[in-house]
Amino acid sequence: MNKYTLPKLPYAFDALEPYMDAKTVEIHYTKHHQGYCDKLNLALEKHPALFDKKVEDLLIGLDSVPLDIKTAVRNFGGGFVNHNLFWECMSSKKSECSGKILTAIKNDFGSFEEFRKQFTASATTLFGSGYTWLVLSNGKLEIMNTKDQDSPLSVGKKPVLVIDVWEHSYYLKYQNKRADFIDAWWDLVNWAHVEKKYLD
Ligand code: MN
Repeated sequence: MNKYTLPKLPYAFDALEPYMDAKTVEIHYTKHHQGYCDKLNLALEKHPALFDKKVEDLLIGLDSVPLDIKTAVRNFGGGFVNHNLFWECMSSKKSECSGKILTAIKNDFGSFEEFRKQFTASATTLFGSGYTWLVLSNGKLEIMNTKDQDSPLSVGKKPVLVIDVWEHSYYLKYQNKRADFIDAWWDLVNWAHVEKKYLD
């Protein structure tokens, strides 16, 4: 039985400056993300056999998770996995959307500009706490929002790209100006990784 541990952040806390400040990255990773991991581990101690599973598989099969820890897996397992992808999808090195992921975006949204417009609108208008995602659903790319720590995996969709729009993701630097944070976030997207997730 191995407890879950956070994947190492793929860059330094200050690597995403000036778009995302070092303090926000540090608190978000060492407090929020770590907190979800710790709470997930605590909940699963009641059913230690589940530690042998991938958290992603617990979220895909949420309906078969024991009832007494189902909400904990949904919230803390979701928080663990959602943040993993959020960090992976960013880089200090600026990149352009290209290759197979660009072709797919053009096919399903008309143009990259139209995709970016729709994704930005979805993230800007999400009410409360949650995430905006690019997901693969029956071979087609879609934009969707999830509330709290819900994962697209639990509704049969495959995450490809995500932005965390909980206030803890931007409030220190951007205060209430979520739209400014989203605009800056586009400069951080690691398109090679997004393409890898798309092709996985
Ligand atoms: Mn977060």
